[in-house]
Amino acid sequence: MNGQSLDGVDHRTHRAPSPPERPLDEAYERGHEDAVSVITGLCREMYRHGWVTGTGGGISVRQGDTVYMAPSGVQKERLRREDIFVLDRSGAVRHRPPNTALRVSQCCPLFMHAFQMRNAGACIHTHSQAAVLATLLPPTVAAGEFRMTHQEMIKGVPQHGYHDTLVVPVIDNTAQEEQLAASMAAAMRAYTRAPAVLVRRHGLYVWGRDYVQAKTVNECLDYLFEVACRMHAMGIDHTQVPPDCAECRQPK
Ligand SMILES: [Zn+2]
Repeated sequence: MNGQSLDGVDHRTHRAPSPPERPLDEAYERGHEDAVSVITGLCREMYRHGWVTGTGGGISVRQGDTVYMAPSGVQKERLRREDIFVLDRSGAVRHRPPNTALRVSQCCPLFMHAFQMRNAGACIHTHSQAAVLATLLPPTVAAGEFRMTHQEMIKGVPQHGYHDTLVVPVIDNTAQEEQLAASMAAAMRAYTRAPAVLVRRHGLYVWGRDYVQAKTVNECLDYLFEVACRMHAMGIDHTQVPPDCAECRQPK
């Protein structure tokens, strides 16, 4: 270690407090990624959604060949700038937080799949209730994948339109998060158009070309998972083309 911290201050000789964190909105407006601020800000936003409570979930952002990652098993809404790990694109840790109790995220090999297999700029992992329930919907269990069509919010998913069927693969949960890596990679190879992977009784991994897209797709998917659960409870099949869609009606 050269004593330089993420903020560029040499803390061996200079003990100034960390600079005040920039609000996430400002990071968006500035249009350039301050990856550390993005991670701490997004973690607080996701916590407010109930997606990363109880230390669950995680987020990682890539800038070029540098990967920033929230640590494992910590309260995501209370992350500080100095708590973030920095890795290279192969997954090797290049900077550890000063708090030696912090461990690199158990999601690390799964985040790396998004960066290495999809060239993603960000990957988000949530323990959202809607995502968990979507994996348990009878049509999802029967198909082995989540399917939904004819919903406006499907348009928020890259390469998808209103009339398309969104398909998200589902993999089985494992005792340890890292053990999901092989089945997640297999699902990503099999479902090249899918923007995410669901983990049964666990949650969601979703990625995007940058953190803005990953956040947007996460929000669209979570909305769709919740609508699907409510439609199913109402006895409406969310996987089928509605009979009144003139555009999709097959010519007789
Ligand atoms: Zn998890």
